[in-house]
Amino acid sequence: MCSNCKNDAIGRRDLLKLGAASIIALGLGGVLRQAHAANGPPTALSPDEALAALKSGNERYVRHPKLCSIDLAQQRSAVAGHQAPWATIITCADSRVPPELIFGGHGVGELFVARNAGNLVDTATLGTVEYGAAVLGSPLVVVLAHTSCGAVKAACDVVTKNATYPGAIGTMIQPILPAALAVQKNPGDFVNNTAKESAKRTAGRLADASTLIGGFAGTGKLKVISAIYDLQTGVVSYLD
Ligand SMILES: [Zn+2]
Repeated sequence: MCSNCKNDAIGRRDLLKLGAASIIALGLGGVLRQAHAANGPPTALSPDEALAALKSGNERYVRHPKLCSIDLAQQRSAVAGHQAPWATIITCADSRVPPELIFGGHGVGELFVARNAGNLVDTATLGTVEYGAAVLGSPLVVVLAHTSCGAVKAACDVVTKNATYPGAIGTMIQPILPAALAVQKNPGDFVNNTAKESAKRTAGRLADASTLIGGFAGTGKLKVISAIYDLQTGVVSYLD
């Protein structure tokens, strides 16, 4: 592990220790459910502590964007029988937006990640997020957009140029269209404005779309936020 990681306020080994040290009970609709997966407890981090870890990790990535020498064999062994991810990330499939790296060089068993072009939430992604919260006990969901997103640009081109796309691409980007229409006349970069608006709307809809997520969020056990990653600077900016 590099010195940057060792000095981080919440290091990977500390997270693993925290996860093994306690069990939290997640309340939903008056029914306490013991969150567990494969015979182990979830993370002990609160939503705000998880968010702080993501922020410090991104700062580390921006300051010293060299790959950490993670002890992957040790991590793999530690989490083989049990996972306790401390944040759920919904982000784009774009190859330049790998969550484990842009949040500071996290290894195996830390982030619960769902990716698709445009960081949208369909049934599969919604179920994935529900599983992360209800079964694995992940306390934080981040809908992470990024600048210069191709899927978002495709949606913007539908709005401005009536563009069409082959296969399932046109159908896939349809959920972005309301966000594009909403910010079309705003100053600034149309594609990036749309990416931000779409991410905010997606995060805002999660609690409404899922009684599970809404229930956890209502009790303070889960926080759902949106953010955008800048491809040029590496900085993750939070939108809420
Ligand atoms: Zn993208």
